Amino acid sequence: MVVREYELNLSATEFLYFLDCPQKFRIYRILNPLPYKENFLSSRRSLSSYKMRGYQGKKSDGIDYHNFFETFHRKYANVISQTIPPDEVCKDNVKLLYWTEQQKNYFTAKEDCYWYPIDKEIRLMTEKKRGVIDCIELCEKRNGFRIIDYKPTFDSNDHLLLLFYASLFNEYRLENKDEGEYDFDVLEVGCYYYEMGVRKVYNLKEVNILAFERIFVKSLEKILNNEFFLDKSSCWGCIFIRICKIEKSREYRS
Ligand code: SF4
Repeated sequence: MVVREYELNLSATEFLYFLDCPQKFRIYRILNPLPYKENFLSSRRSLSSYKMRGYQGKKSDGIDYHNFFETFHRKYANVISQTIPPDEVCKDNVKLLYWTEQQKNYFTAKEDCYWYPIDKEIRLMTEKKRGVIDCIELCEKRNGFRIIDYKPTFDSNDHLLLLFYASLFNEYRLENKDEGEYDFDVLEVGCYYYEMGVRKVYNLKEVNILAFERIFVKSLEKILNNEFFLDKSSCWGCIFIRICKIEKSREYRS
């Protein structure tokens, strides 16, 4: 497989796959060709993206919880100050944890605009990146946005993932500045770990963004140069292991 220059557009899944093992990225791209922009922007989140985000074996739960988080503020804004949560929330621990976290945020927010998200489940595609951002909130000083990614638990790639989404959003703003769709750049990033009810937020540092961009550009160069082969010492847990063996045997034969 050769990736042409016009196909050099990565999702967070593809980027993290490439860093983990370029062959993994290659196989994923063969199975999931780059979508047309219109198709990507109009489709819902794919199951494969949920797998990357740690949903293996819990895909339907993950989709259900994302739907719950997406509609939460619209549905419960009128009752969020009540002492007893609605029945459907009480029956599910993850939903109850989210309710408790959101109620606390509601009571501590100085104004509703700091509690009610600016946008949710936003699909963005720039020249080089694409992805779905779970939630955008207004930072407390009203000078920037905060990206929140909903994840079941911690993962060692969380920080890279958040940098990817921040870069995607800020790049989108730059490429579409005439439209003025969003007022600010992203200044804070964070994860809400819904199985634990824990939220971790970080200030976005220039030095981290620059380091991320360097890694990203380097990855694109390697993809363009067809540098997909790596002598991986451990393939434990790789979901492409069977396809990879077939691919390797084809390479030896050719
Ligand atoms: S099986 Fe190993 S070498 Fe093959 S794609 Fe997976 S991690 Fe990479």
